[in-house]
Amino acid sequence: MKMDVLVVGAGFSGSVVAERLARRGLEVLLIDKRPHIGGNAYDTPDRYGVLMHPYGPHIFHTNAPRVAEYLSQFTDWRPYEHHVLAKVGEQFVPIPINIDTVNRVYDLKLTEETIQAFYDRVRQPRAQIRTSEDVVINAVGQDLYEKFFRGYTRKQWGLDPSELSASVAARIPTRTNHDDRYFTDTFQKMPLHGYTKMFGRMLDHRRIHVEVGVDFFAIQQKVRASHIVFTGPLDAYFGYCYGKLPYRSIRFEHEHLANTLRYQPVGTVNFPNDYDFTRITEFKHLTGQQHTGTSIVREYPQSEGDPYYPIPRPENELLLKKYQALAAKESKVTFVGRLGQYRYYNMDQCVGAALKTAEEIANAMVPQAALKATVKPAVSATQQARAGS
Ligand code: FAD
Ligand code: UDP
Repeated sequence: MKMDVLVVGAGFSGSVVAERLARRGLEVLLIDKRPHIGGNAYDTPDRYGVLMHPYGPHIFHTNAPRVAEYLSQFTDWRPYEHHVLAKVGEQFVPIPINIDTVNRVYDLKLTEETIQAFYDRVRQPRAQIRTSEDVVINAVGQDLYEKFFRGYTRKQWGLDPSELSASVAARIPTRTNHDDRYFTDTFQKMPLHGYTKMFGRMLDHRRIHVEVGVDFFAIQQKVRASHIVFTGPLDAYFGYCYGKLPYRSIRFEHEHLANTLRYQPVGTVNFPNDYDFTRITEFKHLTGQQHTGTSIVREYPQSEGDPYYPIPRPENELLLKKYQALAAKESKVTFVGRLGQYRYYNMDQCVGAALKTAEEIANAMVPQAALKATVKPAVSATQQARAGS
């Protein structure tokens, strides 16, 4: 097969790069060692017919119009705003912490006028915000930190919040209103027919050849491509020569409940303090599917297993820098994605990074004449997609 670019990994990062490069006229071989496309965002009906996410719940949200517009070429959407409750004591209260959370935990009647004074009373200002502990203690003080964050974080990461970079806990805001949505992004929608169908449309192009169940390291010596885009783990590419970049993994325990329309009132319930799992997600909330039964997943974090979460902390950044220096010397290989860049990216950030990467590669590889022929400024991206090339 004639191939210009080999893309390793058919998740968001690899699939977006493959699609963009094919549209720019390059022949792409996309491989994944797993038996399916979609990476960790892969979804599939379970044996009871409930659409579920084998690698954990994936909720799409973004503030980037470019990302939403790009993906909208390949899917229709279903509006969905995610809600999460946390079990604290015997109560189930909204997380991120908002006015109602505080009122219910402490039996108060605070309002939008008085909540900030409450936070000001309990918070312990920290001169420097370096760790995830700093973020939370600085915002809401010791008690809310212990009730909502310390236990969850220790379970999720196997580390105390004081050992994790601030960016981890900073994903969860503290609210001074009643907003009980988990995300406040401008675009919050789920692919109407699921992620896998969306990936299928993205990769349905005559210049993209997809092979699943193929490990890059098994074929590396035979590869004859002008360029490689690698979205697997960065350290694996270099044979772990400086040691392993630490990842957190998860064991997913899936369960189907027959003749149960609803298992829980919201998409996800977090368990910061009790149980070995961190959260339970019920997929029908996310997908809107009608079914006489329901399927849920419990997440048990663990150190061994598939690499799911890069662990943001200073010593890992130092190791990452050493691998980045090696990566910079590989002129014919580009590393992108959550694993390829060792970044705690959400799906939309992967798409953003992949769009940028693909543009750089295409600009370098596609001859100017071909470029002129393929870029038609008067035609929108959507029209181009419909036209098929
Ligand atoms: P991946 O999806 O990991 O894809 C990389 C692919 O490379 C994999 O399919 C892998 O099999 C393949 N690969 C690796 N090595 C090789 C090799 N040697 N040869 C061939 N193939 C190889 N983001 C959100 O925006 N919202 C959410 O709600 C959300 N929930 C999440 C929940 C969980 C439990 C997890 C783990 C992540 C969640 N994410 C969420 C993050 C999201 O999964 C990632 O941002 C995104 O899927 C990463 O895409 P990627 O293509 O970079 O990596
Ligand atoms: N977190 C927490 N308690 C919660 C929710 C989140 O302590 O109830 C912390 C925890 O460290 C978690 C991080 O905030 O890993 C980010 O949460 P998010 O829900 O964004 O994690 P993800 O969906 O990526 O697993």
